[in-house]
Amino acid sequence: MTATIRAIALGFDNVYVVRDERVILVDGGQPGKFASLVRGLRKASVAPADIGLIIATHGHWDHIGCLAEMKQYTGAPLAMHAADRGSIEAPKPVMPPGVTPWGRFVSALLTATLIPRLKIPATTVDVVVPDDGMSLEPYGVHGRVLHTPGHTPGSVSIVLDSGDAIVGDLAMNRIPLRLSPGLPIWADDMALERRSIETVLVAGAKPI
Ligand SMILES: [Zn+2]
Repeated sequence: MTATIRAIALGFDNVYVVRDERVILVDGGQPGKFASLVRGLRKASVAPADIGLIIATHGHWDHIGCLAEMKQYTGAPLAMHAADRGSIEAPKPVMPPGVTPWGRFVSALLTATLIPRLKIPATTVDVVVPDDGMSLEPYGVHGRVLHTPGHTPGSVSIVLDSGDAIVGDLAMNRIPLRLSPGLPIWADDMALERRSIETVLVAGAKPI
């Protein structure tokens, strides 16, 4: 069976449903979007008990906002790299540093407007993704989670045996962030970021 990936739009970004022998969810959307997620899962005919694992690609506010509710709804464990786990275990949302003029502008704008109003429910990380990655076979998915730092220190990517990949914000692909797919406008370390793109390609991710 080849895994399929379905995106559920949760405002600023997506939660991904990866369906193979079992189902995993990737990322937790922005805060306050849990009802949209539940609607998306019903539309995709995914029952809460089908979900064996939730993976957060990194700890930014728009990827972790509904993780606590998702864990409660599904009963599934949450996987994250240790370097970002503090973002959900003791949430204090901040905007990441911009690495382009547009990135710096949007970061300053959101820091002054949206960020102080965000409330992110805390939850615990159950599965810590090791530095050398982990297999998703125990969760019924043919693929791996890789540590791909750069955007944040604890960013991870999912590379499936099919060559499909979910890379979080290791790349960005649409307006208003970028006009076309490419490097992120926010990152902690661009040298690490470039190395991590190599990592996912070497692991078998197929460029589109
Ligand atoms: Zn991010």
